[in-house]
Parts: sequence; C-alpha cells; structure tokens
Amino acid sequence: MNTIRQFIMKFKKYLNHFLRMLVTSLSTIICEEQKSKESSKSFDYPHLIFKLFFGGYRITQLFGNKLRINGKEYYPQFGLKGHEGLDVVPKIKGYKAIYTPADGIVLMTRVSDGRAYGHMIRLWHPQYNLITEYCHLDKICVAAKEPVRKGTHIGTMGNTGSTFGTHLHMNVIKTNDKGEKLNKKNGYLGGIDPLLFLEGRDYQI
Ligand SMILES: [Zn+2]
Repeated sequence: MNTIRQFIMKFKKYLNHFLRMLVTSLSTIICEEQKSKESSKSFDYPHLIFKLFFGGYRITQLFGNKLRINGKEYYPQFGLKGHEGLDVVPKIKGYKAIYTPADGIVLMTRVSDGRAYGHMIRLWHPQYNLITEYCHLDKICVAAKEPVRKGTHIGTMGNTGSTFGTHLHMNVIKTNDKGEKLNKKNGYLGGIDPLLFLEGRDYQI
C-alpha cells in the first residue's frame, strides 16, 4: 500500500515539475515573441486557463480591506481609505508568469525607483475605458506603447517595492476616451474593485 502511495506521490511530483518546465519555456518563448508586434497580435490563450496566472489566481487581500497593523490602520498613511487594489498569488504554487486578462496597450512600465509599487506595468483597455496596473513585479516582458492581446505574458510576479511577501497587486481604474484616469480622489487613487473586471461582472460602479 505504502509503495503505491509513494509511487503516486513521486508521479505527481514529476508531473508538476514537467508542467512547470513547459509553462516556463512557453513563457520565455512568448516573452521573446513579443519583440515582434505581429506575433503578439496573433497570439491568444483560452481565457480561463490563463486568468492572470496559469491555473488562475488565489486572493490574499481584497479591494477596500482596512488592514490593521498593531491595532493601527495601515492605509490612511498613504491617503487611502483602504486597500486600493487586489492582492493575488497563483493558484498553483510556482507559476509566476502573469497573463493580461484583456486586449490593451502598454501605457508605461517602471523599474523600481524606491516607490511603493516597485517594478510595475500600466495597461489601458480602450474597449472598456479602464486601466489595469500590475505591481511588485520581478520581470517586465513588455514595453511602453506595445499592443497586447488577452493572454499575453506581460511579466512575472515578484516582491519589489513595499510588500509583505511575493504577490501581485493589481489595480483597476476607470478612464476617459484618452486613457486618462478618472475619480483619482475617491480614496483609492481612482481604483475600483478589480474582481468586477476579472470575473466579468458589471464594473460600472
Ligand atoms: Zn495590495
């Protein structure tokens, strides 16, 4: 009985290792392919399998959460009412490549310069008049002005900037038709709940 269990455990371990290798090499190829705009245009993924991460995401902190540290609210020191985005990690441990959930254009990328967000990417999705931001990244795979398709590998989850551990902090902000942020003084830097967007619910709050 024990031998069978050991065999299954070993098999699972090898399978997981193999899958991770496959996704990592696929991600590298995609990262390189993006240097050619044509290939990034023609590339698409099944949305559900690559929802932010291969295999989906697990939430570690919700939008609007009023985090307390030593009995003191954490966010008011940044002029915020609460958590201005959504914190997530991959559902399957170790799959750190991040895939954009919708078509868009890269507005900017920023390498950590001491600010709280660390390495970050800002995308604009004109079809929704929304901006999405990806923060605390390890690697950035896209460049400013580059168009991206839903499912494009844009970067890798990391631990840069002000964090309490490796995770992806994602912001969603409404824009006008020029891609300029709206409602910046709503207490969340214009942020709305990213889940409304990620899960395809009505985001018109
Ligand atoms: Zn966060």
